[in-house]
Amino acid sequence: MTQTPPDLPLRALFDAQFQASRAQIDVPLSLRLDRLCRIRALIDSHGAALADAVQADFGVRSPKLTEVADFFVLRALIGDLERHTGAWMKTRRVRTPLYLQPASAHIQRQPLGVVGVIGPWNYPLQLTIGPAATALAAGNRVMIKPSELTPHSSGLLATLLHQAFSADEVCVVQGGADVAHEFASLPFDHLFFTGSTLVGRKVAAAAAANLTPTTLELGGKSPCIVDASADLDAVAIKIAHGKLLNAGQTCIAPDYLLLPQGREAEFERAFAAAVVRLFPTGAAHPDYASIVSDRHHARLLALVDEAQAKGARVVEVAPSSGSVHVRQMTPVLVFQPAADTRLMREEIFGPVLPVLSYTKLDEAIATINAGPRPLALYWFGSDGASRDRVLRGTVSGGVTVNDTLMHIAHENLPFGGVGESGWGAYHGETGFLRFTQQKPVLVQSRWAAGSLFYPPYGAAFDRVMGLLRRWL
Ligand code: NAD
Repeated sequence: MTQTPPDLPLRALFDAQFQASRAQIDVPLSLRLDRLCRIRALIDSHGAALADAVQADFGVRSPKLTEVADFFVLRALIGDLERHTGAWMKTRRVRTPLYLQPASAHIQRQPLGVVGVIGPWNYPLQLTIGPAATALAAGNRVMIKPSELTPHSSGLLATLLHQAFSADEVCVVQGGADVAHEFASLPFDHLFFTGSTLVGRKVAAAAAANLTPTTLELGGKSPCIVDASADLDAVAIKIAHGKLLNAGQTCIAPDYLLLPQGREAEFERAFAAAVVRLFPTGAAHPDYASIVSDRHHARLLALVDEAQAKGARVVEVAPSSGSVHVRQMTPVLVFQPAADTRLMREEIFGPVLPVLSYTKLDEAIATINAGPRPLALYWFGSDGASRDRVLRGTVSGGVTVNDTLMHIAHENLPFGGVGESGWGAYHGETGFLRFTQQKPVLVQSRWAAGSLFYPPYGAAFDRVMGLLRRWL
């Protein structure tokens, strides 16, 4: 294993990966599976230490939450890659049209080369290791830039990956916005970014200078529509779970609720009961995560204050009397916030749920379509016709019907955004192909009649073109 010290300058690390990727373009299945095996071993052997590091990053973040939201998702993704990479990397023969026969044609699936992965802080392991494992399965080298807001888990991840991989296979670069910008400016073969829409724009601009293709997994305001046909007692716990997992710091958390007018009090009661079922001691519960930083905590409180000042009704749900971590924020419902509040214009990313009432379904659909296209959309109810109207009438990155979040766990569903919530998707074969060059190859036959198309264009040429005009 060639060892490049991970403290080399960024450009030298990139150059080492670049040289290695060009020296070994044909990456055999055995090596791809061995790399996946090393990733799996890292999670299996050091999962507890990594989960503790995430807890240290957040203040309160149950290792069990990391087990389900980071490791479970990763194991499903890696297992899928292990099972299917052999088939996915195979060359595909394609049918050849009559006018090119007897040539044959195939599509060769090749690694792109060096893939950069920039990760966010909210699920710091899933959202760095997941894309990296997918890129490795596709035969690439990977450089990872984890978030500076999670220094404990980012640091441990770097140490473990540098033990398991040579730096020209996988390396981790740590640092803040300056390092991140320098990282995004490297001429990667593909740059995979997960983070905010604001920073996504900067990443896209930096990558464009190198013509580096990007995948942007961004955020936004994901709506949750409760249909008139929904049983609120049954749906409230699913909405509360999706909203309060990781204290709302989840890219696909329902951002705001669209509720049939007149059912506000019923929903308030059902939601409060659901919160107590999930977190019996309220925000003080050890399974309820704290907000990641003082800055984000202050931002969330300011969003609620502004909405209240502009006339919204604010309800704290299951306030806790016990000892609470300073950033374990009590869940809040905000009824009828004004459209011009920051709460309704920005992604919330915390345990604050605005509730907008609607009288007709078309109104709810129009509210969604008036904003940027969301990363996720949720619909609850039993009326199939109403559900289909919402599915046909809106465009979003992904959808779960009658639950929240779960579409992310289905490996055969491409996961990604659309418009301002991002572009490109991964998971399953979609992810594998994101990091793969599908190279078309036409193999000409010595019996080919291509010379019929050559100049000088005379009578024979005219006859052939006339024939083709009738055929095609
Ligand atoms: P962020 O955009 O602030 O930071 C993400 C990463 O970008 C960090 O590693 C950061 O160092 C880096 N960065 C900062 N400035 C940069 C620059 N100029 N160039 C390149 N990189 C730069 O996001 P965050 O606060 O860490 O994460 C929260 C956001 O991420 C939310 O908007 C959330 O919706 C989104 N998110 C999306 C998904 C998804 O799969 N679509 C998943 C998780 C989070």
